[in-house]
Formats: sequence, structure tokens, C-alpha cells
Amino acid sequence: MSKWNLIINVGRCENCYNCVIAERDEHVGNDFPGYAAPAPAVGDSTIRILRRVQGSAPMVETTYLPVMCNHCDDAPCIRSAPDAIRKRDDGIVIIDPAKAKGRKDIVDSCPYRAIVWNEEQEVPQTWIFDAHLLDQGWKQPRCQQACPTGVFEAVKLEDAAMQQKAANEGLKTLKQRLGAKPRVWYRGLERWETCFIGGSVSAETGGVVDCVQGAKVTLSQEGKPISTATTDGFGDFRFDNLPKGGGAYRVEVSLAHGRASRDCILGESVYLGELRLIQAEETADL
Ligand code: SF4
Ligand code: SF4
Repeated sequence: MSKWNLIINVGRCENCYNCVIAERDEHVGNDFPGYAAPAPAVGDSTIRILRRVQGSAPMVETTYLPVMCNHCDDAPCIRSAPDAIRKRDDGIVIIDPAKAKGRKDIVDSCPYRAIVWNEEQEVPQTWIFDAHLLDQGWKQPRCQQACPTGVFEAVKLEDAAMQQKAANEGLKTLKQRLGAKPRVWYRGLERWETCFIGGSVSAETGGVVDCVQGAKVTLSQEGKPISTATTDGFGDFRFDNLPKGGGAYRVEVSLAHGRASRDCILGESVYLGELRLIQAEETADL
């Protein structure tokens, strides 16, 4: 049987909040019996936009990550409250607004912090994949409809086909180690999960300092080269997809203008600043 999944394209989100507002518009003051009680005008949203800022000027990268209920197939929330939360045949998880009334304890059952507490109605609530609209024939949830940059792609596939698609396209889920089997997938999640080391190469010629294009930069760890990059027209280089807290690295640049190197300990992403090439004889004088 085909089931719903949501794919999120990381890197396309521009933090405009249209998806959050659309979801609020759908639920604030609106009662959908069997799906969701009316959301309060003031309260937490069931869709959140997280932010990560990496590097430092001038090499800064900001990433926004939409997060919501993952409609897990092995959902911790259902294990904690099987009487009040159910998984539908199409994969969507619903917290029953009547059966979950007064159950504030359910909020803490979600390891993704995807459940909010509705104080007015005294019910825990999540993003319900707009199941009430899909059941009326809608082909996509409102967040997808409202997003101007194509972040969301709702797809209805059999599980084997979805697994194949995920493998083919490098889709990942959040906190895979939990084994909750989320149905919300992320394309390009490495932009959220990994780090970069960057820098800018320059050289002084005739008393003028200029950026150096086309310099080969080598990244090494424990004395072994692990990657190379070439500087662009601004003298910039960047090594992506490095693990957070990856340890000690050395960056080396060598060109006719001279050579330069820099050591760093990678915790979060780092911009090394300017690496000025120094001629071999100058180096010997130091
Ligand atoms: S993300 Fe949280 S609320 Fe949603 S199904 Fe998984 S455990 Fe339940
Ligand atoms: S509507 Fe799209 S671009 Fe705007 S915040 Fe939501 S996901 Fe990001």
C-alpha cells in the first residue's frame, strides 16, 4: 500500500515562514474532529524552522532546517500512549484530540520535540501532514503549497519504493540512531550535519598583495592527504562534508609564488582567514 512521505530539500529554505503561517492559518481556531483540536492564536507552532550559522566573515553559510512531526513508523509517542495516538494505514500519525485530552505527558514522549501543548484545549498536538485535507483529495499539505522555494515534496509511495528512492537520492532522516523510522526525509542533510574548513590564499608581488587563483590546496590529517581543492578567482578554497569535532587538520598551499600552511582543530566549521604565500628563501630566513 502506498504511504505518505515528505522530502525536505535542505538549502532551499530561506526562512520566510510561509509554511509556518500557512499551518497556523489552517489550524488556529479551526476544529477538525478526529484530526486536531483548534490551535490557540498564541502558542508554539507545529512546524519549526531551525537555523545554523557556520564559518565567519567573509565565508559564512546559514542553513535553515524545517522540522515537524516525522510520522515515525516505530514512533516513541505511540509506544508511550497507544490508547491516544494511532498510525493510519497511509503512514500518518494522529494524536486523537479527544483521547489525548489532558495528557500533557505525551509532549515529552517525542525525541524530536515535535509535540506542542495546546493550553486552551488541553491537548498535545503535532503537524498532522494535513491529513484532513489529503482525505478530501488534496495532493500536498499546505506547507508545500505555501513554500516559494520548493523545499517540500510530499510523495505517496509503497515503502520499498521509498526506501529505493532514498538510497538512490541520498535522502536521510533525522536522528537515525533512534530507530524511530521517520517518514520525513531530508535531501542534502550534510549541509546541516557536517562542517567545512575554508580560507583565502594571497601573495605579495611587487609590493602589491593580491588573491591567488588556481592554487592547489591540500587537506591532511595525521600526515596523510585526504582531499585537495583549487582556489577560485577570489583566492578562496573550501573543504566540505567534514565531520563535526573532526579533530586536527593541516591545510597546505604550494605554488610558484611560495607556500603556506595552517593547522586547525575542527569543532564547528572554520574560516582560516588569509594564507599568505611565502617564498622558500623567505621561509628559510624565519
Ligand atoms: S516525530 Fe515525535 S510525534 Fe511525530 S511520530 Fe515521531 S515520535 Fe511521534
Ligand atoms: S515556506 Fe519554504 S522557504 Fe519559507 S520558511 Fe517554510 S520551508 Fe523555508
